[in-house]
Amino acid sequence: MEMKRRLNVLLVDDDLADRRILKRTLTENEADVKIVEAVSVEAGLCILQNQSFDVILLDYRLPGATGIEMVQELRSRADLGSVAIIMMSASSNEALAVKCIESGAQDFIQKSDIQSLNLHRAIVHAHKRFELEHQLHQNYLNVKHLAEKDPLTGLSNRHHFNQMMDLVIDPDGSSKVDIALLLMDLDNFKYINDTLGHDAGDRLLIEFATRVKKLLRRHESFARLGGDEFAIILNGIKSTQQVKLVAQRIHDAFRETIMIGTSEIKCKVSIGGAIYPLQAKTKEQLIKCADIAMYQAKSDGKDKMFLYDQSMSAKYQRLFDIQTGLKKHIQNQSFNIHFQPVYNLHTDKKIGYEALIRWPTSEFQSVPDEFIPIAERNADIHAIGEWVIDQAIKQVSNWQKQHGNNSFIAINISPVQLQNPAVIEYIIDRAEAYSVNPSQIVLEITETALFEKESVIKQSIEALSEYGFAISLDDFGVGYSSISHLIEYPITIVKLDKSLFTTQESEVKRKAVFEALAEMLKRLKMTVVAEGIETQEHLDMCKSLSIDHGQGFFLGRPMAANDLDVELVT
Ligand code: C2E
Ligand code: MG
Ligand code: MG
Repeated sequence: MEMKRRLNVLLVDDDLADRRILKRTLTENEADVKIVEAVSVEAGLCILQNQSFDVILLDYRLPGATGIEMVQELRSRADLGSVAIIMMSASSNEALAVKCIESGAQDFIQKSDIQSLNLHRAIVHAHKRFELEHQLHQNYLNVKHLAEKDPLTGLSNRHHFNQMMDLVIDPDGSSKVDIALLLMDLDNFKYINDTLGHDAGDRLLIEFATRVKKLLRRHESFARLGGDEFAIILNGIKSTQQVKLVAQRIHDAFRETIMIGTSEIKCKVSIGGAIYPLQAKTKEQLIKCADIAMYQAKSDGKDKMFLYDQSMSAKYQRLFDIQTGLKKHIQNQSFNIHFQPVYNLHTDKKIGYEALIRWPTSEFQSVPDEFIPIAERNADIHAIGEWVIDQAIKQVSNWQKQHGNNSFIAINISPVQLQNPAVIEYIIDRAEAYSVNPSQIVLEITETALFEKESVIKQSIEALSEYGFAISLDDFGVGYSSISHLIEYPITIVKLDKSLFTTQESEVKRKAVFEALAEMLKRLKMTVVAEGIETQEHLDMCKSLSIDHGQGFFLGRPMAANDLDVELVT
């Protein structure tokens, strides 16, 4: 405090005589002092609304609320009330003095000491003390802000969301107040991020946060849990209708498109809601129920809202476990990859490997045929696909370096991945980063990809082929098996589906199908691969039909890289 300028003092004391003594003492010591008087806490707080002071001289015993209550009120404010406080009392009670300081006053003086006391010095010291406390508090607030807020949107982060949930939810599920949790996920965020860039993605998240914030009441907690996941905690709800209404308002807020740069974007959001303690008795259960409901919203075509109900649980439990597992294993990079050898059936030499993703063994079991379609539906396939591409190319690069061999790596690419043009750059980037020749990388696509109307897939496949990657058509012979696809797309390898070994009732028929397909594909100059070779007979038949490559349990099971016997090829 600059003591040369006028000293502004708020004097809160109901005793007229005491006020007189204080005023006299103050003016004796201090030439330029302005004293405003109040006779109660209420009056004091009222004056503080419009005026600021250097110090408050505050009597402990006041009519109505005590001085301590006034201190507590001021110190509960974000800026701690921004004023130094000296408390006064007629009593010399040591415990009371401690209580006053603990509640946030800077000093405590006994009224009988006032005249003899250097009041001016006490005020300067109290003011200095307050400044230091204030600074400390600001530092604390800054750290708290950093720890609790999401820097992009300014909303609470996951950590703070968990703390807020702990506050509103009784661990024993006995709360009388109903709480609804809404979980929200932007349906097209990943696509926007990938096609328009991260800046556009960030702006979409900010716009989403801003529009939703406007719809909420002050006490409703709104958090960004990470990525494009958001949560709202609705406290004291009266009906499920009320929860649905909030979701409706959110959907309504995004009927209008958002302009990001020159692009007009439709923001779609899937919302899942659950209610405590009606449907869940703990925080974890509530999050899980809301998540299951959100899963249902996504499965039902996205941009929807679903409230949890019991029947969802049975239906969606497995899907839910897989969905949450996918997110977790992407985050922790805990998937595994197995490699299955591919043989040249003319020379009996191992010539390459197919990379096949594996669900972590520490978890419940799931096979790619189960979890890959789920990952495709919720766009997790992009992250999973990139991980597989990276790991597989890295692995073949290591083999080439360590063993000097020339084996290729076949990588399965989902049609959903091909819808995203960024995947092309990613594959090229990885091949360059690990110095693997693109001709050593086979990209296996399934025919479903070729039915997609979007020409973007065709362009992706053509671009990849032009760069030098080999394009293989997987699972041929089941489903449509269109010859025009083989001609229209730059496909050079065709894998006959393993089911062809088992679907025909008679051996003769089976052989006839294989023969016809192999013959036709060879005429089209395709390299023909048989997958699912499980027996010597299968192998013999493939060889007799001059099928080029073979793969199957009989020749080698998919295995972790460490367990494989990778040969040195000269
Ligand atoms: P796919 O690409 O046709 O892979 C061949 C599947 O047949 C693999 O199943 C493999 O383990 C299995 N297999 C190999 N030899 C035999 C055999 O002799 N008999 C039998 N019955 N099966 C055999 P897996 O690993 O369960 O993968 C299933 C499908 O999941 C794959 O079919 C592929 O479409 C997809 N997939 C696997 N990994 C990935 C991946 O990393 N990315 C993508 N997008 N899809 C993947
Ligand atoms: Mg494959
Ligand atoms: Mg296949």
